[in-house]
Amino acid sequence: MIEVQHFSYQYGTHKAVDDISFTVGDGEIVALIGPNGAGKSTTMKALTTLQRPCAGTIKIAGFDTIAEPVQARRHLGYLPENNPLYDDMIVLDALRFVAAQREIKRADRDECIHNVARQCGLLAVMHQTIETLSKGYRQRVGIAQAIIHNPSVLILDEATTGLDPNQIREIRDLILQIGAKKTILMSTHVLQEVAAIANRVMILNHGKIVCDGAIPALLAEFAQSQNIQNPTLEDLFVFYTKPHAANGN
Ligand code: ATP
Repeated sequence: MIEVQHFSYQYGTHKAVDDISFTVGDGEIVALIGPNGAGKSTTMKALTTLQRPCAGTIKIAGFDTIAEPVQARRHLGYLPENNPLYDDMIVLDALRFVAAQREIKRADRDECIHNVARQCGLLAVMHQTIETLSKGYRQRVGIAQAIIHNPSVLILDEATTGLDPNQIREIRDLILQIGAKKTILMSTHVLQEVAAIANRVMILNHGKIVCDGAIPALLAEFAQSQNIQNPTLEDLFVFYTKPHAANGN
């Protein structure tokens, strides 16, 4: 579970995230969307304890990210934007390295690595260096690294950016499969993906949550309030994030 209460973050004098609160329950897959610079990555970095909130509290699986960061991190998996990996390592060594970092017991490591590699479809490339992998496979390695310690909460920052449609579908299926048992918060600019993966969408604009809810309910409500037939997520996105939007931005 993710619990965020009155979280704000500023870089110098620039307020990137402005007093947001939300909860993501167990088993939920929530898409965090918004224009460039809306504050998505800043929020995700704070959730993963990489950035300390300027105000407010964040709890991961019940652990406060400031008071109990080590416990919070044990329950967290994170795929950062641009998925930084050690290019000259073979996949097996990269997973061994992360398994050690994640304090998985020595005796359990091989089995754990095999299981995560199978789940992420990596068994055929375990002895390949990461620099030789396609972008889709690199993302699989990033996701395998993020879930190797079986966290209950997974944060995915633009997991499908730059992938071709086949790779997008593969990563989407992988996220859905993983998501059956975890709490997932993912950011993306690909709106078709949101409808295909997430149960719920949150739209962030200028550091504030301007829309949050189950996708079918939001679209039905929007159709009624705007008197339009079959609106899409793109319609919703544009409505809530365009300059001078009805929400006051
Ligand atoms: P994108 O979709 O482009 O990744 P985002 O929604 O993830 O954007 P953030 O990266 O969280 O947005 O940025 C929020 C705001 O904070 C932006 O105005 C951005 O320019 C600013 N910002 C982000 N990182 C820094 C930093 N290290 N120093 C100063 N300002 C920053």
